[in-house]
Amino acid sequence: MFMTYSGTASNIATLAHELGHAYHQYVMNDVNGLNQRYAMNVAETASTFAEMIVAEASLQQASSLEDKQALLEDKIQRSVAFFMNIHARFLFETQFYEERKRGVVSTERLNHIMVEAQKEAYCDTLSEYAPTFWASKLHFHITGVPFYNFPYTFGYLFSNGLYAKAKRGERSFEDAYISLLRDTGRMTVEELAMKHLGVDLSQTAFWEEAIQECIKDVNEYMALV
Ligand SMILES: [Zn+2]
Repeated sequence: MFMTYSGTASNIATLAHELGHAYHQYVMNDVNGLNQRYAMNVAETASTFAEMIVAEASLQQASSLEDKQALLEDKIQRSVAFFMNIHARFLFETQFYEERKRGVVSTERLNHIMVEAQKEAYCDTLSEYAPTFWASKLHFHITGVPFYNFPYTFGYLFSNGLYAKAKRGERSFEDAYISLLRDTGRMTVEELAMKHLGVDLSQTAFWEEAIQECIKDVNEYMALV
């Protein structure tokens, strides 16, 4: 793994994230090579799941109220990023492709689309917006992989749901999780969830349970402050 590291809480989260990617590959190492390439929607599952484990463990071990507040705030900030920031990127990209069909999209227009997307995704709650975010964010420039944004929100929700299941201690979670990761190169995510977790992703229950994890954090934070 290669990363910029100075020991902040956010660095630790990134380290956990990248470790998740490494672990995903590690459990697939002896899977047939042709079955090791997984789709985008599961590409960020192991990484966000690993972030969750570290975030929860750090919270549980926080020794002071200030530490707990700071760690919880950090965790909630990540939920905001996955639900709102990433959502804005998705809205931006959707609109961009629509307008690109009619020709080159100007800088002014890109700035405008970006701000509109952020307003919608953040429900008009920000005091300022970032019109040139499209220029600085690497993912918009990976032209071979359009919509390199939804895997984060999808992976986040999917791994939140996984985490909720892990905490309930249902079945043998660790084995199920490893088998799920090993099958990511040969099944759709719906098949993975059904086979390894007994979950029907087309129903809302799994996703609602995932969102409850975030709501629980917010309520806990409100109680602490
Ligand atoms: Zn990642």
